[in-house]
Formats: sequence, C-alpha cells, structure tokens
Amino acid sequence: MIRLLTTIFAAFFAASVHAIDLKSVRSSADQDSSRVVLELSGKPKFSHFNLNNPSRLVLDINNLSTRTLQSLDSIDDSRIKRVRSSARGNGSRLVFDLSGDYRSNVFALGPKGRYPDRLVIDVVGYVAGEKASVRTTSVSDTAEPPVEKRDIVVAIDPGHGGKDPGASSYGVVEKKVVLQIAKRLARRFQSEPGYRAVLTRDDDRFIVLKDRPRIAREAGADFFVSIHADSFPKNRNVRGTGVYALSLRGANSELSRWLQNTENADDLAGGVDLGDVDNDTRQVLLNMSMESAIRISKQAGEGVLSDLKDAGRVHKKHLGLANFVVLRSPDIPSLLIETGFLSNRSDAKRLSSSREQEKIAAAIFEGIKRYFEKSPPANTFVAWRKQNAGKRMTIEVKRGDTLSEIAARYGLSLQALKELNGLETNVIHLGQKLEVPVSSR
Ligand SMILES: [Zn+2]
Repeated sequence: MIRLLTTIFAAFFAASVHAIDLKSVRSSADQDSSRVVLELSGKPKFSHFNLNNPSRLVLDINNLSTRTLQSLDSIDDSRIKRVRSSARGNGSRLVFDLSGDYRSNVFALGPKGRYPDRLVIDVVGYVAGEKASVRTTSVSDTAEPPVEKRDIVVAIDPGHGGKDPGASSYGVVEKKVVLQIAKRLARRFQSEPGYRAVLTRDDDRFIVLKDRPRIAREAGADFFVSIHADSFPKNRNVRGTGVYALSLRGANSELSRWLQNTENADDLAGGVDLGDVDNDTRQVLLNMSMESAIRISKQAGEGVLSDLKDAGRVHKKHLGLANFVVLRSPDIPSLLIETGFLSNRSDAKRLSSSREQEKIAAAIFEGIKRYFEKSPPANTFVAWRKQNAGKRMTIEVKRGDTLSEIAARYGLSLQALKELNGLETNVIHLGQKLEVPVSSR
C-alpha cells in the first residue's frame, strides 16, 4: 500500500512539475500563409504531423496542461476551420482542421524580451481574396518580433575514422581524405546564408555506422551526405566518382525493423510520436515520410552527379541506389558519395590534392544547394528569400554600418550589393539610401 501511494504521488508530482500552460493565443494571416502563435509558460516538448482527407495538422505537446486550452477557440482564420484539443498522457493533443490542402510547420521560439516561450504554427498556401495587409496590422499591434527563419541543416558524414581507416592505397588513407573533403564542404555551407553544416565527426574518431544518421536526426538535419572513397585493387584502372541515393529497399528494410521496435519509431518522421496510433496509421505515416525522403534524395543526387561530371571523371554515369547502412533513414533525404578510387593512382593523387578536394566539395555543395534553392523546406530563410525574390526595399545607412555588414545582413555578397547600388568603392556615408533585397532575417 505504501508503495502504491508512493507511485501515485510520484506520477502526480512528475506531471505537475513539468506541465506548462497556454497563456495566450495570437493569429494572423496574409495571402500566402496563416500564423498562430501560442504563448506558453515554459518550453514545450512537442511533435507534429500532417494527415490528409480531410487535411489536418496534429500537434502533440507532451507537457502542456489542458487547463487553458479553451482560448484556442478564439482563432479566426480562413485556413484553420477549428482547433480541437484533448488530453494525451501528461500533455495535450491539438488537432487543427484545415480548410484546404495546405502545408504546415511548427517550430518553437525561446523567451525573448517581454515574450515568453512560444510555439509557432505556420499554415502555408495561397488563399485568393485574403487581405495581404492583415499580418502587418497584427504585427504592429502586438509587436511580435520577426520570426527567426531557420537555416537548412546539412549533415555531412566523413566515412570511417579512428580504428577504421577505410580504403588505402599509394599512401592515401580514406578516413583522412574524406574528413578533409567533408570539412571543405562544411565550410561552404557555413558561409552560405541560410545554411548550416553539422559534421558527424570532425576529427579522427570511430563512429559506428548506425549512429551516423542518428547524429544527423538529432541535429534536425534536412539532408544527410556521407563522403567516402572507393577501392578496387583487382582493376587499378577503375576510377571516378559515384553518387548513391537512399534506396527504397534499404529504407524499407530499416522501416520494417523500426516498426517492430516502438522505441525507435519515436525517432522517426521528424520526431513524430507514433506511440498511440495503430499499426496501419503508423505504416502510412512512415511510408509518406519515406517516399518523400527518397524522392528528394534522388533529385538532389542527380544534381550532385551532374556537378561532379563537370568537375571531373565520373565512374558511374547514373545515380546509384544502394542499400548502405548510412542511407537508411526513412525520414532524411540522404546521399553517399564515393569521391574516387584510391586503388587508381591518379584518383589517389587527385583526392589528396587540396585544390581537387575543393573542386569536389564545390560540386557536392552546388548540387545540394541547387535542390534546396528550388524546393526549400517551409519556414527556412531560403524559402523566405525565394518567396521574396526580386522584391527590393530601401534602407538608410545608420551609424556604424559597413557595406560588408549590410551585405551579410541581407544575404548578399559584397560585390552583389555594390552592383545593385552602382557603387564603385566600399565607402558609404551616414543617411545614404541603399537598395537591398527583401530578405533580412
Ligand atoms: Zn568508405
């Protein structure tokens, strides 16, 4: 009996300590999207997924109490028909019934200034007749700070490492050259506005294969690219690069393995909590996520392949689909790139040359970037820049501004900013008017 009481007390205690409340709800809309901002009393633990027919956004906030959810009724929005809420475990499930086939996304913002923790729900899709001015009015009314548009996260995985050197030939070791190429690739993404790189290893350490996609998932990666070098000692004439995409078979076998293990399923599909849905629904959700990951892998892979073709010799002319362990994330578009054959003397030489490494990194970078510039994920800086492409605004030079700072702020190179404004030098003066793209963060 004492034990039972302790258990009950512990459960109650755990629930009450971590529970957060909904403090207020704001919503605004324009022609392109609707935004709902939930102001919360603490950091939300959440996951979300979309369902079709009818179109719904399901948002689970695992630590949100159901106490004040009636304020959700105040949302008046043409894209959101209504919001239903219910208790779920120690938290709440919110279901947004959408009035059309809209994309949606959810992200958290930490406390800033007088704003508490927030959860932002964006529902994106054109609605004719929606007044474009609505959002502006509401923004100035409530002084919501501009939402930080997130970076596209590219996880870069240098193959092998530590006790596993990979292939080696002519004094060139795979784990070393792939790390060098990966670092060059990471630098390119880091210096590109709107992108962020995460390396699965940045030194000579051993990481088991299955941990590599996991590191990417934990970093919230939009894309995973594994860098390797091949070896084929039987025929030392074989040379060139090869590009492999996430394969249906690989993803499928991983998917079924994951489906058998509920714990793993939580990791999947952008952290969708699949604990409570039945097996069929789970299968459908995971399949949707997997099919889109494969489609994106292939599209980006074709891009990388064509850039690599321009940069040098390609061993496999077509995109390969292979059942590599690192290419089995059913939810993250993934590529594996064999940068060349160390068993071939000229490839080995090429892969150890810093100039050639830079060329390979540039080709991979351009290929992946081209895909994302065409189809950027919602709520990213790149998506926003694309939506506002060609739109310009005038800014005034303030005290302490430099031209290169202004360029960085608006996602331009210094040269592009100078060209846009017909400037010959880097000298600017206080109060000077400059044209910039509508794409500040
Ligand atoms: Zn390898």
